[in-house]
Amino acid sequence: MTVLVLGSANADLVVPVPRRPAAGETVLGGDTTVLPGGKGANTAVAAARLGADVSFAGAVGDDRHGELLRRSLASSGVRTEHLRTSERPTGVAYITVTPDGENSIVVAPGANADVTEADVDALTWDGVAVLACSLEVPVPTVAHAVAAAAARGARPLLNLSPVVEVPAETLALLDPLVVNEHEAASLAPSFEALLDLGPRSAVITLGARGAAVVTRDGVVEVAAPPVSAVDTTGAGDAFAGALAAGLATGSSLVDAAAFAARVAALSVTSAGAQPSYPTRAEVDRLKTG
Ligand code: AMP
Repeated sequence: MTVLVLGSANADLVVPVPRRPAAGETVLGGDTTVLPGGKGANTAVAAARLGADVSFAGAVGDDRHGELLRRSLASSGVRTEHLRTSERPTGVAYITVTPDGENSIVVAPGANADVTEADVDALTWDGVAVLACSLEVPVPTVAHAVAAAAARGARPLLNLSPVVEVPAETLALLDPLVVNEHEAASLAPSFEALLDLGPRSAVITLGARGAAVVTRDGVVEVAAPPVSAVDTTGAGDAFAGALAAGLATGSSLVDAAAFAARVAALSVTSAGAQPSYPTRAEVDRLKTG
C-alpha cells in the first residue's frame, strides 16, 4: 500500500553566524551548507527509508535546488511522478545558526506556493492507503487533497505545522491530526479538546517524552526511547512519515505512533533532517537491542 505525501520541498541554506545582524547591519558568517529539506520532502524520505512505497506530490523550480531535491527523494526511493517543475524557483529556507545552537529562519516558498488544486486533480489514488500533508503549501490545495483522499478511501493525516487556519470540513476528515505540544496548546486547552475541532483522532508529539494519541476512547501515551539528542531538526517530520508508513501497513494508531516515536527518537541522535532518518533495520535493532 502506498503513502502519498503532499507538501513542501525546500533547499535549506544553513550558515553559521557569530550573532544575528540588526537591521541595516552586515555580519560575516561561515561556509554555507545546502541541504534537502521542507516538511513534505522530509516526511516522504522518512517514510521511504522505512520501506514504505511512497509517492511525493509537490513542486520545485527548474534550478539546481530542484535537482538536489529530486536526487535526494530518488535516492531514498521516493517516487516523484507527481513532483512538478514549476516556473517559480525552488523553495528556500535561509537558516542562520548562532553558537548557542539557536536558529532563525526565513522561508521563501517559491514553487511550493504554486502547488495547486489542479495538481491534486492530477493525482492517482490506486493503492494509496494514507495521504500525509503538511502546511508549507497553500491551504486550499491541502483542503482539496484531504477531501479527495477521503472520497477515494485513503486515510488523511495532516501535520498542522505551521499552524494556520484550516476549514472545519477539512479538520473533520482527519484521522489523525498531528501536532507538537506547542501547536496543540495554541489550538485547544487540552489534548482531549483537540477532538472538538473535528478530527477523528489526534496525535501530539511530546519531544523526549514521546507522543500522545487521542481518540473518543481517551488519551494513550507512547514513550520515546531514551537517546542522547544531538539535533532535533526534522524530528516532527520523521514522526509524521513513520506514522504514515505504520498506518499504511495496517497498524493501529497507537502502534503506529509508538513506532513513529522510536523512529523520531533515532533521528535526533544524528545531525540534519533527511540524513538523520533511520532505515527499518536500524529501528528494528533499537527495538531488540
Ligand atoms: P517534537 O517535535 O519535539 O515533539 O519531537 C517529535 C518526536 O521526535 C517525538 O515524538 C520523539 O519521538 C522524538 N524526539 C524529539 N526529541 C527527542 C529527545 N530529546 N529524545 C528522544 N526522542 C525525541
